[in-house]
Amino acid sequence: MNDASPIPNDLDSFWMPFTSSRAFKAAPRLVSGAKGLYYTTVDGREVFDGTGGLWCSNAGHGHPRIIEAIQKQAAEMDFAHCFGQGHPIAFQAASRMVALAPGFDHVFFTNSGSESVDTALKIALGYHSARGEGQRRILVGRQKAYHGINFGGLSVGGIGLNKGQFGTLYPSAQHLRHTNLPENRMSKGQPETGAHLAEDLAMICETHGGHNVAAVIVEPVAGAGGVFPPPKGYLERLREICDQHGILLIFDEVITGFGRMGTPFASQHFGVKPDIFTAAKGMTNATVPMGGVFTTAKVREAFLSGPEALPDLFHGYTYSGHPLASAAAIATLDVYRDEGIFENAAKMAPIWEEMLHSFADVPDVIDIRNMGLIGAMEIDPNSSRTAPELAKKAWDIGLSFRPIGNNFAMSPPLTIDEEHIGKVKDMLTKVLR
Ligand code: PMP
Repeated sequence: MNDASPIPNDLDSFWMPFTSSRAFKAAPRLVSGAKGLYYTTVDGREVFDGTGGLWCSNAGHGHPRIIEAIQKQAAEMDFAHCFGQGHPIAFQAASRMVALAPGFDHVFFTNSGSESVDTALKIALGYHSARGEGQRRILVGRQKAYHGINFGGLSVGGIGLNKGQFGTLYPSAQHLRHTNLPENRMSKGQPETGAHLAEDLAMICETHGGHNVAAVIVEPVAGAGGVFPPPKGYLERLREICDQHGILLIFDEVITGFGRMGTPFASQHFGVKPDIFTAAKGMTNATVPMGGVFTTAKVREAFLSGPEALPDLFHGYTYSGHPLASAAAIATLDVYRDEGIFENAAKMAPIWEEMLHSFADVPDVIDIRNMGLIGAMEIDPNSSRTAPELAKKAWDIGLSFRPIGNNFAMSPPLTIDEEHIGKVKDMLTKVLR
């Protein structure tokens, strides 16, 4: 960086995630500050963070209580591992986590959503092996699903562009069809039609033998593939089919966890209980990387029949239960509780929904989907404007959101209030109308 420009001289050494380096270098978008609902760009502009980080800064940016907890922990004990030893703060963080998820007794800590997904899939495979059903090797995902970018998550994921460079990964992955039906366009919240698509799982069981299927993984509300709330009855039907065949149901709650639906986890909002669920992002308000896999007692108990000298699960990360992440997680849960963050999300959700659907008459907006504090608009693929162009225009007037193909997605911090929903509406009006 030279004194005259806030833009670094070297924009090449950092190979950026999910970024066209050529496009980035042509028009670098750089932020250097984040407070509450806003980023500050390197040239001093305020930009409303319409995607709450990447669906993760649930309590807004720069919360002083979380920052203080991280600083204090860093000074006391920067690191200690948890391979056969431990530290109290990781156990405290785990107890606080499971207390938010009645019916789930254990959490395995990871460092990200992708790691949580791969851990969950491995737990499912290990569970069946431990019970003498090692033939259960089929893992079922869904079209348009995003389960991170590691080998397992990419295998069960359903976004072709993400898989194309790598070919087939896990050989026994199967996919359900996605649930985005044209007849449901402009539905508010859960669409009416589509529960029948859960029968795809029954078909996979018929074709491959239900006794060979280990697990099915879905996002309760599909997020990064384009935002698709589950059709009414769909998750319930998946649960039934899983029960019929002894298949583990995994919810990927990396986006929906920690209040985005107004409840701690989306499974509680929908009243459907998986056997395993993943989380990350909002776990520490995105301050220190941390994820987790929550399991029922039944799942964990299956791992306790082996020799006591050996690990329950031959799996773990150097940073599982990292002290800084654990401290950040505890402080984050304190903030969520003391400031009523999830309750605020529940209160704002209908206002958010009305705001989004007020754009239903824009001619090239062909669909609007929403659930909790998530929303997406789909632009007609034949329109002269594209979602990335709209995202650029929005950025220029102070609103950040994420283009996904023809869609753009929004998931503001859960601290948003009516005034800021109004400001988002004003900015969207400038962008869309
Ligand atoms: N699962 C879901 C549902 C996600 O939305 C994401 C990230 N957006 C991931 C997994 C991967 O998380 P991470 O980027 O932290 O690896």
